[in-house]
Amino acid sequence: MNNDLSIKEDTYSPRINNDGTYFDKLPPNQKAFTGKYPGGVKCPCKGYQTTSRSKFKSHTICKTHKMWLEELAIKYKEPIKKIKDLEEIAKQQQKIIVNYSNIIEN
Ligand SMILES: [Zn+2]
Repeated sequence: MNNDLSIKEDTYSPRINNDGTYFDKLPPNQKAFTGKYPGGVKCPCKGYQTTSRSKFKSHTICKTHKMWLEELAIKYKEPIKKIKDLEEIAKQQQKIIVNYSNIIEN
């Protein structure tokens, strides 16, 4: 039985910038790549699959992949902005709660 509970992934997901653009960030070397994707990685853009970091890196510079990243940015721009706004509201409310609990304690 496999008791390894560390997170293993097989589907690639790009990172996202604060401005809502997506970018590729691969594990730094083949060992880290295999650690993260032990059964190989699959790219959602056109189902490209590989166990090789360097091959995947070449894939990320192909036109289909670049277009996929752009499409993601367009598709998720609004929801991401809403999430960021909600995060900001949550942070402000957290501060208010901390301020009030300080007042109550003192
Ligand atoms: Zn891709």
